[in-house]
Amino acid sequence: MLSYEAARAKVIEIICARHCAPPPPTETIEFAADPSRVLGRIVAEDVRADRNYPPFNRSTRDGFALRAADAAQAGAKLRLIGESRAGVPFTGIVEPGTCVQIMTGAPLPRGANSIVMNEYARIEGEFVVLDAAAREGAHFVLEGQETRVGESVIARGNRLGYAELAIAAQVGRSKLVVAKKPRVAILSTGDELVATGDAPTKYQIRNSNNVSLAAQVSLAGGDPVMLGTAPDNPAELRARIQQALEADIVVVTGGVSVGKYDLVEQVLREMGAEFYFDAVAIRPGKPAVFGFCQAKPVFGLPGNPVSTMVTFELFVVPAIELLCGHKPHPLALLKAKLAHPVNEKPPLAHFLPARVSWPEGEAVVEAIHWEGSGDIGSVVKGNCFLVVHETRQVCAAGEMADILPRRGLF
Ligand code: AMP
Ligand code: MG
Repeated sequence: MLSYEAARAKVIEIICARHCAPPPPTETIEFAADPSRVLGRIVAEDVRADRNYPPFNRSTRDGFALRAADAAQAGAKLRLIGESRAGVPFTGIVEPGTCVQIMTGAPLPRGANSIVMNEYARIEGEFVVLDAAAREGAHFVLEGQETRVGESVIARGNRLGYAELAIAAQVGRSKLVVAKKPRVAILSTGDELVATGDAPTKYQIRNSNNVSLAAQVSLAGGDPVMLGTAPDNPAELRARIQQALEADIVVVTGGVSVGKYDLVEQVLREMGAEFYFDAVAIRPGKPAVFGFCQAKPVFGLPGNPVSTMVTFELFVVPAIELLCGHKPHPLALLKAKLAHPVNEKPPLAHFLPARVSWPEGEAVVEAIHWEGSGDIGSVVKGNCFLVVHETRQVCAAGEMADILPRRGLF
């Protein structure tokens, strides 16, 4: 049985080998009026600077622009000859013994090579008296010092966050080429399931995986295709999986354990699937399977809702990211101090519903009591999963532990 790290690496290896040679399909999106249209998407071009940034020598303070040599010591007195403000430069030259009042964002006048902040200067009639010495090069950014014209400001394959959109706007882009969202089919299986809107009988339950998975797909940058519930019946399962294979990735939940009605793996095999793993050394989520069927990546996730959530995050997210042209990266775990001792049974790695908080500024994590992998409420009470590695099952309170933040909450 693979460790979760090895299983995740296997997903990345196989998808890269089978998918990454042709770049992902792209679309051009106009976003100036509605940046949410591209927020979180993966950019599929190198976005370049249209000119030098800053486009002129730009003041970073409110103060006085002058020649540093004129104010080598505190106490210098310089003639005030004009002002430079953002958008409206001073057109003259700062000659020896003179200075120009300057605002943040304004062009540095010719002749000046230093700015003294307002806090160290006072105007006395036609003069400015400085309480501090000037330093050459202080408080302005030279033209092109941030970015040169033609330089890449967002590299292909990066996710578009608010800063990326700001720089795209800065360099004059109102459209961006982004990877098309991979369509991720979500099919739940189980004779006991009813749709959220339907009234369950006593022994039926509502299909919640359908919903959590669609949300997780969206958060990971995919386009969810919700296919509802298939019964535990080989012929129907086959027909529904065939329909799911029209998408770019297939996620089936339930029916992957060793129970009498766990038919998913067998049906997929009959449909020509090749599997790369069919169990992972984790709890929850041990029966997770990954394979390719009819040239599409297929994941069979255990049906218990918390298992579904964890295995999706570990194994399906990298597949979605790779299909968007995002570069592979390790699972983003953070560190927090354990609020209590931990003692889990080997040989599985555990992902326990947990809450991280910062009571005194330092991250502290506390596991939430849970009744096992069917207990969605335990995840809701928390905001992360505490990772108890198979190699380190006993930890004392106060030791540092890994946590997997819940996507979308931080
Ligand atoms: P399975 O993986 O099919 O053996 O299901 C394991 C447990 O998860 C059972 O208690 C199922 O009733 C439950 N379960 C399976 N699928 C779903 C679903 N889509 N939504 C909520 N619970 C589910
Ligand atoms: Mg089932």
